Amino acid sequence: KKEDATPEKSEDNLRSPICCIMGHVDTGKTKLLDCIQGTNVQEGEAGGITQQIGATYFPAENIRERTKELKADAKLKVPGLLVIDTPGHESFTNLRSRGSSLCDIAILVVDIMHGLEPQTIESLNLLRMRNTEFIVALNKCNSVVLIFSNFHLDRLYGWKNSRNAPILKTMKQQSKDVQNEFNMRLTQIITQFKEQGLNTELYYKNREMGETYSIIPTSAISGEGVPDLLLLLVQWSQKTMVEKLTYNNEVQCTVLEVKVVEGHGTTIDVVLVNGVLHEGDQIIVCGMQGPIVTTIRALLTPHPMKELRVKGTYLHHKQIKAAQGIKITAQGLEHAIAGTGLYVVGPQDDLDDIKEVAMEDMKSVMNRIDKS
Ligand code: GDP
Repeated sequence: KKEDATPEKSEDNLRSPICCIMGHVDTGKTKLLDCIQGTNVQEGEAGGITQQIGATYFPAENIRERTKELKADAKLKVPGLLVIDTPGHESFTNLRSRGSSLCDIAILVVDIMHGLEPQTIESLNLLRMRNTEFIVALNKCNSVVLIFSNFHLDRLYGWKNSRNAPILKTMKQQSKDVQNEFNMRLTQIITQFKEQGLNTELYYKNREMGETYSIIPTSAISGEGVPDLLLLLVQWSQKTMVEKLTYNNEVQCTVLEVKVVEGHGTTIDVVLVNGVLHEGDQIIVCGMQGPIVTTIRALLTPHPMKELRVKGTYLHHKQIKAAQGIKITAQGLEHAIAGTGLYVVGPQDDLDDIKEVAMEDMKSVMNRIDKS
């Protein structure tokens, strides 16, 4: 068999799912991302968090470590999870890769105090239009009590925080009043979703995932529910998206940003959705003044651990396999256009054909700009 033949669909050959975070402004998307990124995970403890460019990669060991309290012995079949770093970045939700959404799965953040808001509904509609799976993070659960208890200033009398704990464990520690308050809010929000034509349910009560969307109560401040969220994202993706997540040698790659970086010139930050990129690959990207044909000079990612994350220094890779966020340096990228595809020229490929395909992406970017 040819070396570059598309591998068989197989659960043992999956790429990492790509996840984005959506929702109304101020629901805590940024905070939740911080929390997921594990700024509160002890250094070295979980190990190997790599803050990527435009996207953060979590290796499976990291997820396993952070979800061990959930006692989910289920095997993680994907190598990790790639979370896009730009919540709320308008254009991001529109980014596509070869006609389908760049994200395999999304976290839809809803503020428990506010319920569904205009941008929640907008996000919801986008997700439905793109047929993207999502999980609802019912955020700010720790503040329920701050507002409703008589002890506004003292968290100890209200919602009891237990840092980064699974949600069921946290829930059991709450007083009856707090639980009642929570349940009342939850019921209202489930009703609001129903009004949008969606069935939702607390994830640990959800017996018909796929029909009914799961809600995970979270606190982006103290991390409760975040283990549940990580585990469900990974488990649900690997269970239901085997075909989509099957690793494939055909490169699928989208340019997120075009940036000038000191010492590197103009670089592009990309999300590699599938396939593998090599140093020295000939690539074509869509440019303002026509297709850009160039050669990958360097494939860069930030250093994994934070004390090494010195500004401006990157790890160099000979090759990188999907799914990953990568900074690419190459000549002639000055006029590259964010939101378009990156194409690798193979030995058998016709340069002109690929140029044409690359420039097609311009139309869809322009369409999006027109609409916004
Ligand atoms: P974004 O606009 O959706 O990205 O929201 P941010 O992450 O910027 O959060 C908005 C505000 O809500 C900030 O003041 C956060 O500190 C606060 N916030 C976010 N998550 C939580 C949470 O889980 N609990 C509480 N009490 N406050 C939160």
